[in-house]
Amino acid sequence: MKTKSINILGATGSIGTQTLSVCRELGINVNGVSAGSNIELIEKIAREFNVKVCHIFDIEKGKELKENLKDTKTVVLYGEDTLCDFATFDGADTLLTSVVGSIGIAPTMAGITKGMKIALANKETLVAAGDIIISAAKKYNAPIIPVDSEHCAIFQALQGNDRKKIKNIIITASGGPFFGKDREFLKSVTVKDALKHPNWDMGAKITIDSATLMNKGFEIIEARWLFDTYNIKPVIHRESIIHSLVCYVDNSVMAQLGVPSMKLPIQYALTYPERESCSVDELDLAKCANLSFYEPDYDTFGCLKLAVSAMNEGGSMPLCLNSANEIAVKYFLDGKIKFLDIEKTVETMLSSHNNIKNLNLHDCIALDKELKLKTTEFLERNI
Ligand code: NDP
Ligand code: MG
Repeated sequence: MKTKSINILGATGSIGTQTLSVCRELGINVNGVSAGSNIELIEKIAREFNVKVCHIFDIEKGKELKENLKDTKTVVLYGEDTLCDFATFDGADTLLTSVVGSIGIAPTMAGITKGMKIALANKETLVAAGDIIISAAKKYNAPIIPVDSEHCAIFQALQGNDRKKIKNIIITASGGPFFGKDREFLKSVTVKDALKHPNWDMGAKITIDSATLMNKGFEIIEARWLFDTYNIKPVIHRESIIHSLVCYVDNSVMAQLGVPSMKLPIQYALTYPERESCSVDELDLAKCANLSFYEPDYDTFGCLKLAVSAMNEGGSMPLCLNSANEIAVKYFLDGKIKFLDIEKTVETMLSSHNNIKNLNLHDCIALDKELKLKTTEFLERNI
């Protein structure tokens, strides 16, 4: 079902603002917008789109926004307790999840239980709670349409084909800013170095995840849940032109190509099952020159290995992987730990975690908070 009206969770970020551009271009009604604390931008967006509802995670900032918008009819909600009310706020048929981290789990679930279409960018939700989310989406008949470029490519390459005939999914990875480097080099890289992604301009957290290759590990787990297979192979493709591929039992490989821009997958998630013209440039193959492919270096980029083994162990291991990574990345971005300490932290938390199977939503959210606290305590003891 093509989106007519949307609530955007995390509207001030990289994906959020690109979604707003798509909404402008396609004339989609923006019903609700949320942010962590950026009330200046949310106020601007709220006035431009005349939104019905805003949500601010930070309570004090939320109160300030309420005051600033009191000349309008916009409802202003704030704090963690009202995130789910925002997600399902009356009037929207689609929830686009472009918030960072596992804070997305509860509102995504709220949207699902109301049968909304979920345009999912927030991959941490599927990493941490894939089983719960996918089962609920089936139960409530809520379509989950991927926004992540690789998953959008896979989703497109699957159309018109029998999913039982998939041999494997080939997920491409740019390799990040440290492609080809060794561990000795990684020991001394700075936050500034790690934030320089070769092909994509994204929020800080995912850019660091791309540099450690944790992002690719997350995307393998995301694909496992979205496409119900463990046959997923990552391949490094430096140019980010081929966004991913599906190999079928007859060894036919279907791929989706395009210039690296998130506007295209965002638009596709909103217009699906239809297609509309898009402001993104057409791909000029003759100008692409060589497209390169390499095996990933699991020894240098240990986070990728950790993610794959957490997925294979299942249960609460991927949740632990995500919780530990969220905290470790925050410490790295704050300049408190080194780049390779991200991997060391995640490895330590995983090795001391007692795997729990069949968590429900409530326990999953509680465990996430507990593991984040444990990771924080571990880091505070060791820095
Ligand atoms: P950004 O950091 O650019 O934006 C994050 C958004 O979430 C902002 O609107 C931010 O608000 C909001 N936010 C942060 N913390 C909270 C909170 N506690 N409660 C509510 N809202 C909060 O991230 P990106 O747009 O880069 O990424 C968003 C998601 O999409 C991530 O899960 C990422 O992995 C995924 N993704 C991103 C891609 C990209 O190209 N950027 C590609 C594929 C997937 P504020 O501005 O106030 O801080
Ligand atoms: Mg991606």
